[in-house]
Amino acid sequence: MEEYLLRQRDYLLSISRAMTARLDLPSLLRLIIEKAVEMLRGEAGLIALRGRDGDFHIRASYGLPTHTPPLFAPLLTDIPLLHVAHWPVPDLYARLQLVAASAGISLRQVVGLPLTLEDQLIGVIYVFRTRDTAFSANDRQVLSSFADQAAIAVRNATLYQRLAEEKGRLDAIIENSADGVLILNAQCHIQTINRALAEMTGWMPEQARGQPCQHVIALRNPQGKDICETGCPLQAFSDQNRLQVEGDIIRPDGHRTSVSITYSPLYDDEGTLVNIIGSVHNVTRFREAEEIKAMFISVISHELKTPVALIKGYANTLRREDAQWDQETVRESLAIIEEESDRLDRLINNLLEASRIQSGTLKLELSDVSIPRLATKVVERFRVQAAKHNLQLDFPPHFPTLLADEERLQEVFSNLISNAIKYSPDGGTIRVGGRVQQDHVELFVSDEGMGIPSTKQSRLFEPFYRVDSSLGRRTQGVGLGLFLCKAIIEGHGGRIWVESAPGKGSTFRFTLPLR
Ligand code: ADP
Repeated sequence: MEEYLLRQRDYLLSISRAMTARLDLPSLLRLIIEKAVEMLRGEAGLIALRGRDGDFHIRASYGLPTHTPPLFAPLLTDIPLLHVAHWPVPDLYARLQLVAASAGISLRQVVGLPLTLEDQLIGVIYVFRTRDTAFSANDRQVLSSFADQAAIAVRNATLYQRLAEEKGRLDAIIENSADGVLILNAQCHIQTINRALAEMTGWMPEQARGQPCQHVIALRNPQGKDICETGCPLQAFSDQNRLQVEGDIIRPDGHRTSVSITYSPLYDDEGTLVNIIGSVHNVTRFREAEEIKAMFISVISHELKTPVALIKGYANTLRREDAQWDQETVRESLAIIEEESDRLDRLINNLLEASRIQSGTLKLELSDVSIPRLATKVVERFRVQAAKHNLQLDFPPHFPTLLADEERLQEVFSNLISNAIKYSPDGGTIRVGGRVQQDHVELFVSDEGMGIPSTKQSRLFEPFYRVDSSLGRRTQGVGLGLFLCKAIIEGHGGRIWVESAPGKGSTFRFTLPLR
């Protein structure tokens, strides 16, 4: 007997050690119940922990057929909560008999003890015997000290689990944040980048891990210089709490994102820098808006200056009192004044329209429109100025009428045909036509002119964008035509795109829905 008791104590000690080393709660609970049963020479047992709802739920069992634990519910109700002194559980034997009968197992003896931590009941542990030998006072005492150890281990594992859950939640927030996030170690090497930053930099998170920050971020200034190379902005960290850096991140495929990065340091208890957290905000749209504003001013001043100078020059000359002008000169001068005023008028209208689109106040005036008739009208108007070009119309008979804004669609055809002429200086055929498809019509304007490189095609529809070429610089235009076309067509529920290659001509296509 003495030896058995000694063995029990040794056992208790070694198990306590094993328990405290285990942080995975389910496997810890399995270990506890298995060892408790062994130690008390029982045949079966179970552990129930108090859930957030205040009730007891079985979390591990030993020696019980798998379907039976739910039948042990009678042992989990009316458990004295307030004070351990109220233990054991009242009517324990009557409950045991009930459970044994419903589970069909001959359980004869039971010992139940609370798992408590700082006077708080966190769970209960039961050990059963199928034989008649009752649990002794010593068994109870051993189980009690075992339960104290077990409660501490359970608390540690629960805290660890909560910490892991918390970390999981934080990881999910970081991963799914629309802003880019990077976590650096104290040596400025990447520990983590999230999905948004992976997208901006083109680095996979696994590849980025362990890389020096500047390899992955490589922030450029507006002149394209690597800011990180000329002087790492993080060097200025020592005496500041937060640091903000702005620049461009350029992906290997050339995609550019303008960002504003806020770095915050993370120190440990002793004030040593452990991590630097960077929050990367995409400010591309804001930058673009600023660029458009700057472009607007430069384009406006340039494009307004020329016609105004011409108008003023001719008006001035005609007014000179010391000169006599023949009819022909007067007529030619006035024609130029009229032409330049028209140009000014068109430019001002386009600008007004562009600002309406950007403020979202463009309103369509809908009526029944025959597209072939409208296209023919516009083409006829252009025939006069396109002597070198062969303008062709290509519509099938019985083209359906559409509910559309006639004037605006006229503007679309006008812009596309005028571009087709402007950007095919050597002439060629310009075709304007359409096809009827299931629930929409597809219209096109094609030319055999200079074409557009594929890298530039996606930007054509941005306001003030012009492909930089010697012809482009020589032709009039402010880069608003296609922007307006796109807004008008999208306003009708259609879309516009271009098919083109340098030297091979361009085809602009757009769709309009049938009602
Ligand atoms: P703009 O003609 O006033 O410059 P647009 O918005 O109409 O402005 O066109 C934007 C740019 O797209 C033009 O500057 C030109 O570089 C290019 N582009 C448009 N249409 C064509 C075309 N048919 N062929 C070649 N380039 C074109």
